[in-house]
Amino acid sequence: MTTLSAQNLHVHIGGKQVLDGVSLSLSRGQVTVIAGPNGAGKSTLLNCLAGLRAPDTGVVKLEEANLSVIPARRRAQRVGFLPQVPEIAWAVDVRTYVGLGRTPYIGGRGLAEPDRAAVESALEQTGTLVFADRVVTSLSGGERARVLIARALAGQPDWLLADEPFAGLDPGYQLDVAAMFGALAKRGVGVVVTVHDLQMAQRLADRVIVLHGGRVLADDAPAKALTPAILAQVYGIEARSIPGTSDPIIEIIGRTPNRSPSP
Ligand code: ADP
Ligand code: MG
Repeated sequence: MTTLSAQNLHVHIGGKQVLDGVSLSLSRGQVTVIAGPNGAGKSTLLNCLAGLRAPDTGVVKLEEANLSVIPARRRAQRVGFLPQVPEIAWAVDVRTYVGLGRTPYIGGRGLAEPDRAAVESALEQTGTLVFADRVVTSLSGGERARVLIARALAGQPDWLLADEPFAGLDPGYQLDVAAMFGALAKRGVGVVVTVHDLQMAQRLADRVIVLHGGRVLADDAPAKALTPAILAQVYGIEARSIPGTSDPIIEIIGRTPNRSPSP
């Protein structure tokens, strides 16, 4: 089995039910998009799936094993995580920074030959080899985004969980990153991404999970999960789906009248 699954997750933060009975089962080799409005619980869910937050109740399983009993180092080898708005504080060169992605394998010791090979492969896959000797803090937002992905890929994870990886990227870089995710899924990696851009979700996803108020409102193929009715319900927008050359195009018409804000 090659699944990452959640059973009946509940998370309560500061008097609010942030996840309210979330169950899902994700497969490797697919890109799963988690969509939903601000505050829906997407980041909290992703953190639970990465094993970085324990749910109050419910379990996350990596294949048959409860994630909470897998040693942190082993878990980090299998599940790569890209946090929302990550900070790169160290003025080190890109290659060294990407090498940090090998930490789950090497602990405190230096990189050995297989580690170096994994780093070079990650640099190559993300198109960052060309500026591998530059200092990370000098990079543009788009370059930085790809370096962060390279760091995660250096760990050769079975799963890559990325929280809003497209935020702040220009359309060209967005397409590059989307293509990278697609290529990873083709190679058998389970890619799970939170996305706000509906067109990107439609284009990128094999499957879309729509979260609303901490619950799963839809879990289906993109065209079935991102319907005008669901978009009206969760985002308070009027939209229509029109045929496009490959994927349907989601045209946003405007705010729905008398919309009710998120719960
Ligand atoms: P999303 O990523 O979908 O925007 P989050 O998972 O970040 O949603 O947050 C869901 C809800 O939980 C929000 O209402 C947010 O304010 C609240 N929340 C998340 N983390 C904290 C925290 N550490 N303290 C207080 N409230 C939090
Ligand atoms: Mg978030």
